[in-house]
Order: sequence, then C-alpha cells, then structure tokens
Amino acid sequence: MNPYHKTTGIIIKVRSYGEANKHLTIYTKAYGKIHAVAKGAKKMKSRFGSTVELFTETKLFLYKQAYADLYLLTQSQISTHFKNISKDVKKYTYASAVSDFMNTFVPFGEKSHSLYELFIHTLHRLDTQKHEDKVFSMFMVKFLTQVGFRIALDSCTSCGADLKQNKRMSVSPKHGGVVCETCASGISTVEVYNNTLKLMDFLHRKTFDTLSKITIENQSHMEIEKVVEHFLEYNFELKLKSLKVMESIRSYGE
Ligand SMILES: [Zn+2]
Repeated sequence: MNPYHKTTGIIIKVRSYGEANKHLTIYTKAYGKIHAVAKGAKKMKSRFGSTVELFTETKLFLYKQAYADLYLLTQSQISTHFKNISKDVKKYTYASAVSDFMNTFVPFGEKSHSLYELFIHTLHRLDTQKHEDKVFSMFMVKFLTQVGFRIALDSCTSCGADLKQNKRMSVSPKHGGVVCETCASGISTVEVYNNTLKLMDFLHRKTFDTLSKITIENQSHMEIEKVVEHFLEYNFELKLKSLKVMESIRSYGE
C-alpha cells in the first residue's frame, strides 16, 4: 500500500509532543478525523509555520505505514487562515466550541464530505460575521443531523399523542424526540419551548445565508444548546468541555 497521502484538513487540536514536536488532531477531507505528528513544529524556524495552528485549513502531505495509527506530516501549505478568529476572543471561543464537537463526537477515520462542508462553512461565517451566536446555533442543529439524529417534533415518540398545541415540550434523548407528560415520567428529559423546536427544524432546513434575515432570542440559543448537548452526551456517553465557557461569553456579550 502506498504510504504517501495527500489531502486537505482543518486543525482541531494541538498538543506538545516531546521537546520539539506537535501532536495534531485534524479533520481531513479524504480520511475523516486523524492524528498526525509534525516533527520540529514547536521550533521557531519550523518549516510548518502557521499551517499547524488551531482552526487553520491546511494542505497536508502525509506519510503513514499500513496499520500504524499515527500519520507523519511531511509537508504542508496554508489553504485558509481565519485571521479574525485568531484575533478576536469571542470568535475564538465559538470556534473552540465547534472544534470541541468535532473532537468529541466525530469518530476517527470516517470521512464525510457534508460534515467537512458544514465545519468549514461554520468557520468562514464565524470569521466574517457579527452574529456568532446564530452561526453556532445553526452549526449545532446541523451537526446533530450529521451524526445521525433528527428530533421528532409533533407527537409523542413513545405513545403517539398529538402535542402540536403544547407550549412547553419535553425532549427525550432516549426516545429521539418529544414525549407527552405521561411518557416523560421517570425518564431523563429536557424542557424547552415548542417554538425552540420549531426554530431548530427551520435552522435544519435553511442555509447560513438565511441567518442575516432572522432574529433569535438568547433564550432560544440556550435552549438549542441544552437540547443538542443532552442528545449528544446521552447517545455517545461523552461530555463536551466547552459549553460552560460559552455561557459566560453569552452573558458578557449582552
Ligand atoms: Zn406519550
């Protein structure tokens, strides 16, 4: 098997590795999420320069022997540098939260063209637009679908009771949708406004271009986050690290 690989990827995590090296987690177009080592990348005059910095989209030349877990980065070139994300604390925090989703819930070695597109579009929007909260909410809703979940909205997923007229809804990650009061007893649910679920359905169907035309209340952002977080953590049995920071950024931004 050819040990040389060429693809493009976005750096989602950077750690020190030995004295001079960087250990990278990268979401790539061709191989999905991978681990790679950039030798000497911590040195001042490293040939990798800013291509191995967080959130950079980089053209990668990789070497990996069959059955090895780790790729070796041999060469790299900048594809996209998000200059506002790297300068602006708020943008950086949102980008970090997006990376946290990619880091936590995306399995290694599974490529997905549509997930790559969602990721890169989200970073572009965060870099260039003012309303980071709207971009992030749309990302979360679309991410949930990308990893296989679509929340059933109108009727109880357990007994089928019609819930269209309810103002408040109980969402059950276990059942994959809303549940009525009877079916909600004794199981873990998230309580949100019905309008939040309608908004999620809207965001799921629309593109990022729509965001400039709509207003989303802070309350709805927080409810969307609560539903998505609960759904993913329940189904993957893994925890996100970044959302506590998001809370403080939101209240600071008010
Ligand atoms: Zn029910």
